[in-house]
Parts: sequence; structure tokens; C-alpha cells
Amino acid sequence: MTEKHTSQGRLFDTAPEWILDDARQGTVATVVLPDGVDRPLDYLVPESLAAAVEPGRRVRVPLGRGNRERVAYCVEVRTGDLPQAPLKSVIAVEDEAALLAPRMLELTRWMADRWMARWGEVLEAVLPAGVRLRRTARVTPLLVATGASPTRPPTPAQARVLAAAAAPITAEALARAADVSRAVVSRLVRTGLLRAAGAVPAAPGRRPIRHDRPESLSAEQGAALEAILDPLRRGKHASIVLFGVTGSGKTEVYLQAVEETLAHGRQAIVLVPEISLTPQTCDRFRARFGSVAVLHSHLSPAERHAQWREIAAGNVGVVVGARSAIFAPTPRLGLIVIDEEHETSFKQATAPRYHARDVAEWIARAEGVPLVLGSATPSLETFQRCLVGEWRMCRLPGRVGGTELPPVLSVDLRDPSSRSRGAITPRLAAGIRWALDAGGQVMLLLNRRGFATAVLCRGCGHSVRCGQCDLAVTLHQPGSRGICHGCGLVARLPADCPACGAPGLVPRGTGTQRLEDQIRATFPAARVARMDTDTMRSRGSHERTLDAFRAREIDILVGTQMIAKGLDFPAVMLVGVVNADAALHLADFRASERTCQLVTQVAGRSGRGSLGGRVVVQTSTPDHPAIRAAAAHDYEAFVRSELPIREALLYPPFGCVVRIVVRSVNGPAAERWAGNVAERLRGESEGVPGIRVLGPAPAPIARLRDRFRWHVQAHGPEGGLLREIVRRATATLATPDDVAWIVDVDPVEML
Ligand code: ADP
Ligand code: ZN
Repeated sequence: MTEKHTSQGRLFDTAPEWILDDARQGTVATVVLPDGVDRPLDYLVPESLAAAVEPGRRVRVPLGRGNRERVAYCVEVRTGDLPQAPLKSVIAVEDEAALLAPRMLELTRWMADRWMARWGEVLEAVLPAGVRLRRTARVTPLLVATGASPTRPPTPAQARVLAAAAAPITAEALARAADVSRAVVSRLVRTGLLRAAGAVPAAPGRRPIRHDRPESLSAEQGAALEAILDPLRRGKHASIVLFGVTGSGKTEVYLQAVEETLAHGRQAIVLVPEISLTPQTCDRFRARFGSVAVLHSHLSPAERHAQWREIAAGNVGVVVGARSAIFAPTPRLGLIVIDEEHETSFKQATAPRYHARDVAEWIARAEGVPLVLGSATPSLETFQRCLVGEWRMCRLPGRVGGTELPPVLSVDLRDPSSRSRGAITPRLAAGIRWALDAGGQVMLLLNRRGFATAVLCRGCGHSVRCGQCDLAVTLHQPGSRGICHGCGLVARLPADCPACGAPGLVPRGTGTQRLEDQIRATFPAARVARMDTDTMRSRGSHERTLDAFRAREIDILVGTQMIAKGLDFPAVMLVGVVNADAALHLADFRASERTCQLVTQVAGRSGRGSLGGRVVVQTSTPDHPAIRAAAAHDYEAFVRSELPIREALLYPPFGCVVRIVVRSVNGPAAERWAGNVAERLRGESEGVPGIRVLGPAPAPIARLRDRFRWHVQAHGPEGGLLREIVRRATATLATPDDVAWIVDVDPVEML
């Protein structure tokens, strides 16, 4: 423990009687509060609790002058000479066993420093709510039928129980389902007809997929697998990047690496960007390994707790989940895989603003296990680490089976010949017709939901804006509602222009709803479906739509970036990108990287079957390196053009960024305070080479949910030093009541 514990626990007026101020020797526990107090605090451990207080358990401690009881995480216990100043005592111990292994405590401490978060909030973030609340949310073990034959004929009641326990179920639910008493269930456990479920049940409703293990791997797959298995067998850490187009066989390499991990009696964690968007990947892991814990965001706290315990008990071999699955308490971790490693969803948008990729690397290093990162479009951060030789890159250049990547046609929207009434140019329409006539399917990407992206006055050009955000409202049908995509508020659309009074406002710009309408009008015989957050609100709706698309019940799928992820549909013959420039000009230094990734990813969805395929990309900037590289299926060409730009500007991966966002209902207060922060940052970084402070400036979204937003950015060559400067600059700032601010280290979101 290097930090000083200037404990708030020592501040009190009158010495309560439970203070042992004459004790010279004793046991002291250092605890961290989930919120309120930033610093770790020291408490005396009374003799009666000495056996139960250990790092990783939670304890009850008195806090502040009022000695209010608070639950805190014990992070260290030491015995020896007591400090001069008297200490308050631990009141009680909350947990029967440590919730966090020593390594997790170490990890959370590192995370707190790495992303400038409070240790307590990191501890809360890595423990699922069900685990933290376990005193109230009691979790019962899951039971499953063993399949053994009963020694005595089962009664009908027993038969009902066994039938209901074909899949793991809690005793209580089982008794309810079979309409028997709990005693019947208990008897069946005693007689060995029911047992505690060893593995966590798969999410209900997914049909099993056949085992699809190929006979042999391609040479490139074999080399990639060997690069993973070599450190795995030697118990060494290494980071291996699988850089291969969609369909190049990356997932098969993960699967076989996991297979070997399990054969060594170890566990594997597989991170995917979002479970609901990657059902096929999850299904393949389930089909291959059976015992797979899929950590959904839909799980109830109790279900999550059950999974957590099964994983901690070592009963689960493979954990598949989004970002937070990296904290799964695997006692015998052997491998970590991050699929689609470039996805921004691996960074948490709320505090602690950690990036799962960095957390995974820390864990893999600490445990001495391989970390595998796969993508068709690796992030520039990852690419650069391979270029400098820190990480190893394995290329999988072609699709399995040798299917060619589809030819890409760029349609220049500035060209008069590509004028069209709607959003679909004649060339794109011809492509769609070609695919439909050949019996193929079509995917159309438009990364804007709603009907129209703005509602404008034809006279003065004024666009209707949200009442509480600095954003134009988007027109949604049915009902002609103006919806703000910043705050979700539904605005009433005025009949006349609020600025000049001219009658009649017109929708401008195309969203997915309007695109769907245009497609239906142009291709009346085609079956069309739309996939965006508006149509995918209910649980399971993604899977239903994707299943219908796979079953060829849909000919044309229109959607936002949701359709670009992890999907393999052999009959897709045409992919159309309706507006490739949509995100290119955002005020974010990663805008071109994102655009190139999205267009490359979606283009890779075409022509995966024997029918062949094409891609049409509509753009106003066909010569932009991001668009050109995506159109040539040459992501690396983009990397080569982009890295020198980042290097010249000292942007990541060549420098670090810390962004401070200040919010207030009071605009001038936000500005003043952001100015204050910037001034202090400049003061602290004076004479430190390479540090730049930008701002204060209004954030690109200058007002959101009635809060004015200002931001300040600090750039520097090295993260540790930069964070230290930010820490010093903000340590003694007393924030006014009406101002809130956050620190985002290595931001991926700049709006
Ligand atoms: P990626 O993850 O790069 O998109 P996949 O691993 O999903 O690629 O492979 C694409 C398709 O090729 C899948 O249907 C997979 O089952 C199949 N496949 C992968 N490797 C082989 C192989 N060595 N032999 C035959 N088929 C393979
Ligand atoms: Zn709004």
C-alpha cells in the first residue's frame, strides 16, 4: 500500500467508548467506500472479528462525525504496531467469503489509477449487482435431472418434476412448474434423480446448431492457432492479433484455441461487442462446447449471481459476454479472446470509463495467459502495437474456401448522373434489382434512424431543434413526431417556421424509416424489414429478424450499423451503403477510422455464398482515404495513410488524451469552470515537454438534457504523466454546486 491513509475515520469530537486507545498492537483493516469518500480508510479490527475480516470481503464501519454505518470493501489487513492516533473499529463483516480475489483487488486498484476513477466505484463496477446484493437476493442452486433410472417407479408427481428439470431450474421454480411440494424435489435430490446443475443454462429459445468443426485448418489458420497455443502450453502471456476479413476463419481459430484451453483443464473468457448483435458467434461456442455461460445484459441479478458462482466454482469452461464479462471470476483462466476488438462498445461510457481491451491485457499478463484479439479492421491502437513488435499479428488474408471478396462500386453523389428522387441512386437500384433477380438477398446500411434527419423551413433554412439539447430533431413516423436523439424527448412540430413564420416545414435528409418506404415503393414485390433501435426494442427481436432473414423470409434488410456486425448470410448478394460519409465529418479524430471500419465490415457481408456478390457505396467523397480503402477491401491502406496523420498530431496511438467534460444548467458557470480547469492544467504542465491543453471550448453537442457542455482536452506523449498532471490540476478544485464534471481517460467518444 503506497498511499497514505489520512483517514476520515479518525475525525471525531468525543472519543466513543469502543476506541481502544491504549492498545499498542492490533489488527488494522484498510477499507474503501463505494462512494462518498475517495481515500482508503483505516479501521481497527476487534478481536472478535479478526478471523472474518479479510481483503475482498465487505465490512460495516462507522463514518464521519455522526458515525453513520456504511458498507465498505476491505482491501488490506495488517497486524502489528498501531498508529498513535486512535482508530474507529469495524462493526461487522458482511460476507461469508471474499467476493474479490487478491488479483481482482489489485486489478481494480490499477483500473482506478489508469482511468482516474475512484477505487470504490471500480469495485462496485466489477461485481454484478446480484453478488453485491446477495444478502437480500438469496440465490438457490440450479437443479437438473441426472437421467438416472429410479429404483422405485416414479409417481406421476415425480415424473412431472423430472420432465420439468430437463434443463437447469431452481428448486422453487421446479416445484411450481411440476405443481408439487418442495419436499418432493428434495427427495429426488436425495435419491440422485436430480443434481445441482454443473453449468449455467443456455439462454432459452435458441435452437442448437450442429457441430461444425472443420476437418482441417487452412495454413494461415494453423499458423495463427500455433501462435496462440505455443504460449498457452508454456504458461506464458502473449498478445496475438488475428487480422482477417469477415469469413476468413478467425472464429474457428478461437474455437480451437478454446478447445485446447479446456483440454488443459483451464477456462476461457470470450468477449464480444454485444450479445444480442452476435447471436451466431454465441451459438457456435455453445454448439461446440455445451457448457458455456453467456452473460447477457438481460439476466436478472439472481441469474447473474448464479452464473458468477458457477464460474467461480470452476464449473463453467467458457464464458462469453460483452465488456464486463472480463471480470468473470475464473479461478483457472487459460485464455482471453476479444472478437471485433475495434468496437467502441468495449469502452465503458460511464464511470469507471475503462476499456475492456486494456483490462484484458492486464489480466492476461498477470495470469500468464494468451490474449487473442480478432478483427477485420483492427483499431489503430492495436495495429500500432503490432507494428512496433509488442503484439504479434497473424494475417488471415482470404475467405475460407477461397470465395472472392465482392467488387465494390463507389457512386459519387456529386455526379449529376447519380441524381435521384430518394436516397437510392440509379446504380444502387440496379444493383438491388440484379441481386433480387438472381434470387439473392440485399442488406442496406444507413446509419441514421428515423424518417428524416431534420425538419426545415424551406424559406429561411431554420431547422426545428430540441428544447433542451443543441440538436436538430429527427422526424419519426408514424405520427410525424419530432424526436431528439440526444435526450429522447418527443417535440411537437410547429406548423409554421418558428423563426420566420413561413408556413409549412419540410422533412430533410433520409433516415432508415424513409429508406424503408422508398425501398418498398421501388421494389413492391420484395419483402422488406428494418433493423434499428426503433424496431428492435423488445427482447429477442434481433434474433427473430435475423432468423427470418436467414430463412429467406426477408429479401431486403434495411438497418443501422446493427446489421454490420457478426452476421454470416450466404445468400446476401448485394450490400448497399446509402451514405458512407454520414459519420466522416464528425468532430472526432477517429471519424475516418470509424467510417472505414463500418464500410469495410458491412461490405464484407456480401457474396459469402456461392452466388457471388457486389457492394455499392454511395458517397460524396469517393477519394477520401477511408472510403477508398474500404472500397478496395484494403483496410491496411487506410492504416498506412492514417497513422502518419495521427503521429504528426500526436493523437493516439502516438499520444494520450484526457478529456474533461463540464456540465451545468448554467451556461456561464460551465464555461467559467471549464476555463478554470484549463488554466490549472496549463499551470501544472508548464515546462513539461509535449503536453498540450486544448480549450475550454463548447463540446460538439453544446447542450444536452438542459445542461450546457464545455470540454477541455489534455494531450501528452505518455499516459501516466498526463494523468498525474490532470490529478494535480483538479485535486484541490472545489466544484460549485451547479457544476458537474467528468474525466475521460483515452476517450472514444468526443461529442
Ligand atoms: P470469421 O470469424 O473470420 O468471420 P469464421 O471462423 O466464421 O470466420 O469462418 C467462416 C466460415 O468458414 C464459417 O462457416 C466456418 O465454419 C467456416 N470455416 C472456418 N474455417 C474452416 C476450415 N478450415 N475449413 C472449412 N470451413 C471453415
Ligand atoms: Zn434533446
